[in-house]
Amino acid sequence: MCGIVGYLGSNGAYEILIQGLKRLEYRGYDSAGVALVTCDGSLNVHKARGKVANLEQTAAAGCTEGSLGIAHTRWATHGEPNDINAHPHVSQSGEIALVHNGTIENYSVLKEALTEHGYSFKSETDTEVLVQLIDYIKHTSSCTLVEAVREALLQVEGAYAVAVVEKGDPDTLVVARKSSPLVIGVGEGETFIASDATPIIGYTDKVIYLKDNEIAVIRRNEPLSIVSIDSNAPSEIDIQKLKLSLAQLEKGGYDTFMLKEIFEQPSTLRDCLRGRITDDCSRVVLSGVELNKERFLKAERITLCIRGTSWHAALIGKRLIQDFCQIPVEVEYASEFRYGNPVLNEKDIVISISQSGETADTLAAIQLAKEKGAFVYGVCNVVGASIPRATDSGTYIHVGPEIGVASTKAFTGQVTVLTLFALAVGQLRGAIDADTVREVATALKAMPEIIEETLKCDPEVQTLSRIFTYAHNFLYLGRGYNYPTALEGALKLKEISYIHAEGYPAAEMKHGPIALIDHEMPSVIIAPSDSLYDKIISNVQQVKSRGGAVVAIVSKGNTAMNDIADFCIEIPSVPECLTPLVASIPLQLLAYYIAVGKGKDVDQPRNLAKSVTVE
Ligand code: GLU
Repeated sequence: MCGIVGYLGSNGAYEILIQGLKRLEYRGYDSAGVALVTCDGSLNVHKARGKVANLEQTAAAGCTEGSLGIAHTRWATHGEPNDINAHPHVSQSGEIALVHNGTIENYSVLKEALTEHGYSFKSETDTEVLVQLIDYIKHTSSCTLVEAVREALLQVEGAYAVAVVEKGDPDTLVVARKSSPLVIGVGEGETFIASDATPIIGYTDKVIYLKDNEIAVIRRNEPLSIVSIDSNAPSEIDIQKLKLSLAQLEKGGYDTFMLKEIFEQPSTLRDCLRGRITDDCSRVVLSGVELNKERFLKAERITLCIRGTSWHAALIGKRLIQDFCQIPVEVEYASEFRYGNPVLNEKDIVISISQSGETADTLAAIQLAKEKGAFVYGVCNVVGASIPRATDSGTYIHVGPEIGVASTKAFTGQVTVLTLFALAVGQLRGAIDADTVREVATALKAMPEIIEETLKCDPEVQTLSRIFTYAHNFLYLGRGYNYPTALEGALKLKEISYIHAEGYPAAEMKHGPIALIDHEMPSVIIAPSDSLYDKIISNVQQVKSRGGAVVAIVSKGNTAMNDIADFCIEIPSVPECLTPLVASIPLQLLAYYIAVGKGKDVDQPRNLAKSVTVE
């Protein structure tokens, strides 16, 4: 969570930092702040509660000069979102300013010790403790800023990406990371740092992904130096070429990023599928599987380890892998798995799925699984992020930057990759017959066109949404492959419209949620013409008998449901295992238009942030 940006160069830092914060705002928007060091060494800090636009107003009244600066957009973990808790935090001496992404777990012990040394604290944040600690070390041992930062970080437990500047030194920027991401952009005579590469795009395509436990010192007109925080030993500097373009970060004529990302799905799935299915659709080729055949052949169990929307993709993945590979599959929340003393050995495969590739609990779960001998496979979107670097092998979903906080194209990308994975491993193990591979692979290959067709329901869903802006509760029901689709549909609605919504396996609804149904509680029922269609028809009847309105997602040409449900949205017919991909499209649109109808900020819903890099 939270985004940090920094700049040291020959241009004015302020505009670059503000622009960078806007690109990182999806990571948190509780408050924003900037610290600038002018060429004569004075330090100016501006902070404001809320979004970056508020910071711009506040900063306009003060000095925004300087070609060195750091900035932050916050997702609060310690202390409420207000001006005082906003970053950058400045040390008691007024000399050191710091921005931080993560959590300092031993902050109270450190705070107590610093209080004994005469330090007092203005904010409720864990972060302020770190800046005071750096200040204390610097003054008691008369060392350089980078030495003080390194020494302080050795005493810190928790997760961090930090950027630090010092009053009186317009030529030095210190950054470090452990379990939170940090990218360095190397330009001509200028250096950028950021939580992800988006603020750097347009300035340079040369980036260095700082590794865990590394600290870098960026000095004007001097080569960059990176060392290990633990040993102080120099690290190798690995400059990579960034492949993102500015166009990918813009709304492209849509009102919101979320709507753009929903409509982008035909092309993002095309990118996701490219080169992974042979021309005759007889084989799926995933290099992450091919290069590790032995591990997949001897696997006795697969555990999918995830959080958030990826959990729903994983539940679909579980069905796919069980159906196509005949391997037992478990799905675990990474946050529970890592503390659950999991029993794993070298015959286990653990798959971690994360859009950002930075999810803190997922990273910790990967570490644990590797220690226990399991083979860890990653499914991520952001190239070069921490999870793909920590896993043994994996597959990128390649759907491009997802900026809307509610995940849409990353979800369909994850489900697509899990389908490819299940087909590839099923073939390798001889668990799936050639006809099934061909049937599913052919439909999957056509998925970009099928999704394009599905998106034609947009005007109909938009009209329908107007009927439901009044609702306070929603029930989403599905069975088999589409129980997770129901969970995902409910989550989308909750996230952006703040309407309470529950996803439930349709048959289980009788054991509780049915008590909630009345004429004020609509149900969305995912009922494509699949093997459970007849069963779900009776579930729809049960809802209707209690007076609840029903929106049914049905396969094209299914007119039977018209007589039972209040509203039907048609989706193209596809093999059963692919119905979640298609059915999730009208659900994304429904959530979107209901939220817009209620006047909500769909791209930046309250209390949320996109990449959960804190526990
Ligand atoms: N723990 C810090 C705070 O609450 C930083 C949180 C973040 O990463 O956004 O201010």
